[in-house]
Amino acid sequence: MLCFAKKITLAIQIVICTAIFIAPIPSTAQESIDLKKFNQIAAQVKELKKTDLVLSLKQLTVYEDLLSALTIEQNLVYFKLLAEIQIEQNRYKAAKKTSNKGLIIAKRLASPSILISEILYLKGFALESLGDISQATKEYKKGLEVAESLHNKIQISAGLINLGAIAYLTDDYKRSLILLNDAYNIAAQTDDEELKGTVNSELGIVYAYLLQEEQSMAFYQQSYSHFKKAGMLLAAHNSLNNIAINHNINEDYQLAIDVFKTIINESNKDSPSDSMYSVYSGMAWAHLKKEDSNVEAAYQYSLMAKQYLQSTEKMDVHLQFYFDEAYILYKLDRFDEALTSIAKVEDILANQQQLPLIKKEIYVSNLNLKAAVFHKQEKFKQAYELKSRVITLTAKLYENEDNRSITEVRLRLEAEQADKQNKVLHNQQILYERYLDEANLENEVQRLYLIVSALIALAFAWVLVKLLQSQQKLKVASNIDPLTGVANRRSLMKQSQQAFKQAQGKPSYLTIMLIDIDHFKDINDSLGHISGDTILAEVANIGAKMMRKSDMFGRFGGEDFMVCLPKTTLKSALEVSERIRCGVNQHVWAFNKLEKVTVSIGVATFSGDDDLISLIKRADEQLYQAKASGRNKVCG
Ligand code: GH3
Ligand code: MG
Repeated sequence: MLCFAKKITLAIQIVICTAIFIAPIPSTAQESIDLKKFNQIAAQVKELKKTDLVLSLKQLTVYEDLLSALTIEQNLVYFKLLAEIQIEQNRYKAAKKTSNKGLIIAKRLASPSILISEILYLKGFALESLGDISQATKEYKKGLEVAESLHNKIQISAGLINLGAIAYLTDDYKRSLILLNDAYNIAAQTDDEELKGTVNSELGIVYAYLLQEEQSMAFYQQSYSHFKKAGMLLAAHNSLNNIAINHNINEDYQLAIDVFKTIINESNKDSPSDSMYSVYSGMAWAHLKKEDSNVEAAYQYSLMAKQYLQSTEKMDVHLQFYFDEAYILYKLDRFDEALTSIAKVEDILANQQQLPLIKKEIYVSNLNLKAAVFHKQEKFKQAYELKSRVITLTAKLYENEDNRSITEVRLRLEAEQADKQNKVLHNQQILYERYLDEANLENEVQRLYLIVSALIALAFAWVLVKLLQSQQKLKVASNIDPLTGVANRRSLMKQSQQAFKQAQGKPSYLTIMLIDIDHFKDINDSLGHISGDTILAEVANIGAKMMRKSDMFGRFGGEDFMVCLPKTTLKSALEVSERIRCGVNQHVWAFNKLEKVTVSIGVATFSGDDDLISLIKRADEQLYQAKASGRNKVCG
């Protein structure tokens, strides 16, 4: 959306112009305030807010008590600039208030002004960021009407972009495409490169949601060119980074390398560290994984990434870095150094309380890697002990994974017995060799890259993240839902489509489960949205823990989860559902005002359905039954 693009400009400027912060800027505070100078000051503020929000705010609010002496148009300019600054400071409530004030004054205008449309968009944006999607939509529509009545193409296109983005955030992709295509066509009639960059990047996002990767990448590519022409390097590189990460995820490593190289070549010393970190760590990964793997190059790139690591405090990024570094060093047979990196990962995890599932997985994989290093160092006893721990922990992580846990229990018993009998090292080594499956480690590391690249995409540039998180813009570059840590709708659907294809002609070979939290609205109302989020994440955690590795558990919508269970009959799916229902029902919550959270679950099994969607629909009908029959129920 247009605000989005504007914010990125700001982000770039903040980074590029840090040096200017220190330069003295003429103070207006002491000078007597000259009303005639307002337009000039407003123009200055518009520029200044790209580099220094606080100072621009100061300059602007000099006029706060003099508004009645200014013209109506000038008042509108004042409120527009103020709302823009507040939005960039993430002060959405204040921005909403400010735009309201502007809109009240606008009523006194004799004829409509495009400023009204701009202020309506700002209000909509503030509301959207506050989570009030329906009110935001109304404001965007009003703004669009004004823009249309004034035949202002840029603002019309901007309004359509705002509405198009809202549509995809509420999963209405068809409508989103229609709106964004209109916006695209209108933007094409202007020479506003920022607008064109924005609409292309929004289209890239929608096509990514729709799993049409080729189109998505083509739009990202276009948005890159436009942002570049508009001089918005950070936004341009964000588009390229999306493309490169996608290549890495699709295992097109050479393509990823080429795109990363473009970013590197175009970057300058002012490029933000976080984005450079992301580029170099992506480069390292691609070199490691490409067909003619070049581990030494991967190591060199990871050293480059390390230079930028210090600038971010995001623990997830540090975690990913040291884990990758350990793995690369292991591959290079530099075992002592690998152990140092492994210890770093352990340190980081030790400092966090209550690890979410993903971090627990990283913890276990890190131990697994350590076991592999010990093995290479021929410290068989240590390797063996670690491996036993890995097995125990893995069993705990996936308690309900039937087949695997049986094997694990057996292995564990063997391990314990072996220990008790104090067998000679040699025997342990033989046992250990059997457990230590290199391919397994490879898969694990691969999987973690996918997970962590989601975290990295989020950490691409702290400014971008901070600004965009509330709009979930960067989520699409990843497969993980950032709130709950489980698969997002995009990757869930992608995986489920594959499973659906495989299940063709095999009745009872695929079951879909839809889980919906009961009366979640009331929970939000009584505890607040943030506690609501915590509960949502915990329910996801409870559900995900009960899955087998082959099950696909993810966030389907707001407070809905979907599970796709391959090779599962209705009967066993109902049993799993019942376990989840009980698990949530029995969970003890740390909220005073909350005793119980319950879920309703609808289950349906493949029986010659035309497509995945109709199977999901049938599960949804069952969910409706479960709700209708009193909630806290499973229906199938
Ligand atoms: P029912 O038992 O019929 O499912 O009632 P409900 O209140 O759960 O159902 P409804 O679908 O009407 O409400 C869903 C609520 O979930 C509304 C929305 O505000 C909330 N919600 C959706 N996504 C999120 C989220 O990410 N975080 C939080 N905290 N709430 C969310
Ligand atoms: Mg609900």
